[in-house]
Amino acid sequence: MIPFLDLKRVNAAHIDAIQAAIARVLDSGWYILGAEVTAFEQEFAQYCEVPHCISVANGLDALHLILRVYDIGEGDEVLVPSNTFIATWLAVSQCGAKPVPVEPDASTYNMDPARIAAALTPRTKAIIPVHLYGQPADMSPILDVARCHGLRVIEDAAQAHGARYAGRRTGGLGHAAAFSFYPGKNLGALGDGGAITTHDAVLADQLRTLRNYGSKRKYHHEVAGVNSRLDEIQAAVLRAKLPALDTENATRQHLAQRYLERLHDLPLGLPAIVAAAESVWHLMVVRSAQRERLQAAFDQAGIGHMVHYPVACHRQKAYADTVWPALPIAKQLAAEVLSLPMAPYMTLYEVDRVCDVIHETLN
Ligand SMILES: *Cc1c(COP(=O)(O)O)cnc(C)c1O
Repeated sequence: MIPFLDLKRVNAAHIDAIQAAIARVLDSGWYILGAEVTAFEQEFAQYCEVPHCISVANGLDALHLILRVYDIGEGDEVLVPSNTFIATWLAVSQCGAKPVPVEPDASTYNMDPARIAAALTPRTKAIIPVHLYGQPADMSPILDVARCHGLRVIEDAAQAHGARYAGRRTGGLGHAAAFSFYPGKNLGALGDGGAITTHDAVLADQLRTLRNYGSKRKYHHEVAGVNSRLDEIQAAVLRAKLPALDTENATRQHLAQRYLERLHDLPLGLPAIVAAAESVWHLMVVRSAQRERLQAAFDQAGIGHMVHYPVACHRQKAYADTVWPALPIAKQLAAEVLSLPMAPYMTLYEVDRVCDVIHETLN
C-alpha cells in the first residue's frame, strides 16, 4: 500500500513539537490573536523574505481580503488561470468582480504570460497567477504586463510555500500573496488556516484591521470588517512545523527528480519546470490520454492517486450562469492530469514501485 498522502505520517515527524505547542497554548489561557499568532506571522514573513505577514482563517479569505482592500468589486475584472482550484475564482466572484480566465502552458500547468494581453480590457484591475502544484508561475513577464497596465499582481501561493523564482521566495514576488495552511498543503495546520504576505506596510495595516471586525482597538470599528483569524493553536502548530519545511521540500524535490528520471521514456506528459523556477512539488502531476487505465492499475496495486482537478472552473455548475470562451487547454488538462503519491515521508523505493506500475501499464 502506498497512500496518496497520509497526513498522520506527515505530522508524526513533528509529534513532540506539535504536542508541546498545543500544551503551551492550552496552558496560556489565551486562544485568539495572542503571542503565538504574532510570533508565527514574524517567522513566516522572515521565511518568505518579506516584511509583513497577516494570518487569516484560510486561503480563500486571504485572496478575498486582498481583493477587498484593493477595492476590487462590481464591474471589475481579474485575470485568473483557467486551470486552478476553484478558490482562486471564488475569491474574485465573492467581491462582485468577474474572473477572466487565461489559459496555461500545458506542460508547466501555469498561466501562459503570452496570453495575458488578449484578456485585458479597460476593466481589468488585477492578475492572480497561481503557483500551481508547487511551481512558481513565470512571474517576470507577468509583472512586466502588469506594470505596463497599472495592474495589481496577487500571488495565489496556496500550493507553493518556500518555492523560489529567480532566487526569491513566493509570497514576495507580486504586490501581495495568499497562502493556505489547509492540512494537506506543504505547510499544513491541524485545521484551516491562511496568511497574506506583502512588502506593502499600508496594505498590511488595513488587512490586520479588516480580518478582526475592522477593529484596531477593541469595540471600536473603522471599517465593516470580517472575522477571519488564525487561532493560537494553529499558529503554534505551524510554528512547530515551519523549521522543517525546507528539509521536507528538499525531500519532495528529490522524489520528484526520481519520478522524472524513471518516467521520461514513456508516452506520458511530465511537468516542465521553467529555468527561473524552483518548485516545491506540492503535487506530482502527469498527463495521459490513458488516465483511466493508470487509475485502474493503481487501484489494483494499492497505490493512491487523485485528479487535480477533474472539472475546469468554467465548466463547474457553480459558474454555469456565465458564458465562457472555449478554454481547450483547461478542458484537456482536466481530462488528462493524474496526481501521483507525493509526501515528505515517502521513500525512493516507493517512487520506484509507483513507476514500475506505470511502466507495466503503458508498455
Ligand atoms: C488550497 C488552495 C486555496 C484555498 O485555500 P483554503 O485554505 O482551502 O481556503 C486557494 N488556491 C489554491 C490554488 C489552493 O490550492
